[in-house]
Amino acid sequence: MKSLFPTYDVIVVGAGHAGSEAAGAAAAMGAQTLLITMNLDAIAKMSCNPAIGGVAKGQLVREIDALGGLTGLVADQSAVQFRMLNTSKGPAMWSPRCQSDRALYSSMMRKELEKKDNLHFRQDNVVDVLTTEDGKHVSGVRTSTGQTFEAQTVILTTGTFGNGLMHIGETNFGGGRSGERASIGISAALEELGFEVGRLKTGTPPRLDGRSIDYEQLDIQYGDEDPSPFSFMTDNLPTRQEQLTCWIGFTNKRVHEMLRSGFDRSPMFNGTIESTGPRYCPSIEDKINRFSDKDSHQLFLEPEGWDTYEMYLNGFSTSLPEDVQYKALQTIPGFEEAVMLRPGYAIEYDYFPPYQIRRSMETKITEGLFFAGQINGTTGYEEAACQGLMAGINAARKVKGEDEFILKRSEAYIGVLIDDLITKGTEEPYRMFTSRAEHRILLRQDNADLRLTELGYKIGLVSEQRHERFQTKKEAIDQLHDLIADYTVYPDKMDPMLEEQETSTLSQPVKAKTLIPRPQLSIYNLLDADPELKRRAHEISSDPDVFDQVEIQIKYAGYIEKEFEMVEEMRKQEDTIIPDTLDYRKISSLSAEGTQKMERIQPETLGQASRISGVSPSDISVLMVYLKN
Ligand code: FAD
Repeated sequence: MKSLFPTYDVIVVGAGHAGSEAAGAAAAMGAQTLLITMNLDAIAKMSCNPAIGGVAKGQLVREIDALGGLTGLVADQSAVQFRMLNTSKGPAMWSPRCQSDRALYSSMMRKELEKKDNLHFRQDNVVDVLTTEDGKHVSGVRTSTGQTFEAQTVILTTGTFGNGLMHIGETNFGGGRSGERASIGISAALEELGFEVGRLKTGTPPRLDGRSIDYEQLDIQYGDEDPSPFSFMTDNLPTRQEQLTCWIGFTNKRVHEMLRSGFDRSPMFNGTIESTGPRYCPSIEDKINRFSDKDSHQLFLEPEGWDTYEMYLNGFSTSLPEDVQYKALQTIPGFEEAVMLRPGYAIEYDYFPPYQIRRSMETKITEGLFFAGQINGTTGYEEAACQGLMAGINAARKVKGEDEFILKRSEAYIGVLIDDLITKGTEEPYRMFTSRAEHRILLRQDNADLRLTELGYKIGLVSEQRHERFQTKKEAIDQLHDLIADYTVYPDKMDPMLEEQETSTLSQPVKAKTLIPRPQLSIYNLLDADPELKRRAHEISSDPDVFDQVEIQIKYAGYIEKEFEMVEEMRKQEDTIIPDTLDYRKISSLSAEGTQKMERIQPETLGQASRISGVSPSDISVLMVYLKN
């Protein structure tokens, strides 16, 4: 039957964190886009923690923002508290995080998406993926209402909903997350097309009535005095006094005993849940089981929003029976009278092992079909959002007949995440860490715009306004850098303040840039000590981000240069493309294991091939010679 609806360039299925970015990007790049999702009132809903960012995740959000995505902007508009994490470490480790108003985040994302000209919305449940007759190219989707929607490309971002099964103790029931139904049909359709499907699990803690907590027994945690936004476009944020506070509490031996009393009814331990959960985000029962020598675990009590008393108990994720959850909760100091609004639960769901997608997020089996988000085996809003952005960009580019847009491991955490997924696959929910990025000194949150905004502009995602602002900042950074590189500091003209900051006194004139790498000195000390330098610097800019950037560039110049040299050394491998049509079996000197692994993963570059476990350095040399010839 002919579809009642127009043919779209891009259909995005699911309006979670991946779907919102995908639809936003595709529409902003001029593609006629349809976003179909089960519930239009739950766009970009936070299924778990009401927070954005954190270690390595904050870097992802800044990269999304620099490319012209939405997560950073929406996070800034809906945050109740901001904190920059890891500030005691080097700048590569600094990671912005905010506590969000869950409902506001969702409505602000919807508002941002509704601003897009080419974006249509539909509330519906997709049950089938349609292909051309030869089954090689996607052609649209069918929904549970019996309607078909045609498109040149389809992006699936169905999150934890695929055949979702939720567990609370011995009770289990179908669902995509609390209060929402599961997605049935898509997995079977994809298996029919030849896709491999797997199962993963994740869990969430109970939500509490904030009025029932005795805060006297908890430690208070304030937001930052001088908060940093996620978005390079945000100017104003609430002060510390205007932000909400979080609270810290602790479990103890009694709480652990109470939790253990429910282990025989736990789906985690009695074999009901067989799939793997996120190792780095374990449930409380998992923690006390695995770290049985630890008598206490830290818990964070976090507000769910400005206008609600609901609180999220971070660190207490559980799928134990509800009576055990309740009793254990009320054994925690400060929680004796706690009222539980929603119990914790675990969910098992389908995912598609990500060796089945390309660097562009397009699937290898079905042309025009893209996967993004938790469906690829990741966990986390930020991990999902950045994949959605890349899938949206690449679907729009495919429709226009343009090249794939790829970010390298040396350019962005986003590049690291996608390369890890498609090269190594994942058998447990994948989350981002700074340790996954070998070039992390280059991939800092502070320079995400310098790395990516120009690229975002070239592909048509970054607005003129953002680009102009970026250029002004970049010019100021370059000018200030030049000023400090050329400027000579004379000891007799300097304020003694600098001498106090210094371990060794200055006996002769030196270039200003040679002082900044000294550990006790900041760019601000230097400017305060030399009024002429300060005057000239302020003629260039008054933006603290400009000063911070120049300080980092000068202070860590040695490390940064070395890292660039390493990237350069590897560039040849990273840029050597392996054709899709390559028959590895014809290359006689390859190892059997190397051949088998490369046949399965189909690496797109020599660099990617070198990271596949089981592919040896000698396999790479053989391949390199073969490709050269
Ligand atoms: P989702 O946010 O799940 O969005 C999927 C969207 O697709 C939804 O809007 C849904 O309605 C829609 N949809 C699904 N199927 C269909 C269909 N057939 N037709 C139309 N629309 C459809 N992350 C962490 O980082 N740490 C955690 O501790 C953590 N715990 C979690 C606990 C639970 C119980 C859950 C459910 C999630 C948890 N997450 C956690 C994961 C986090 O919520 C996800 O990683 C993130 O939301 C994934 O984003 P997504 O866009 O891929 O999918």
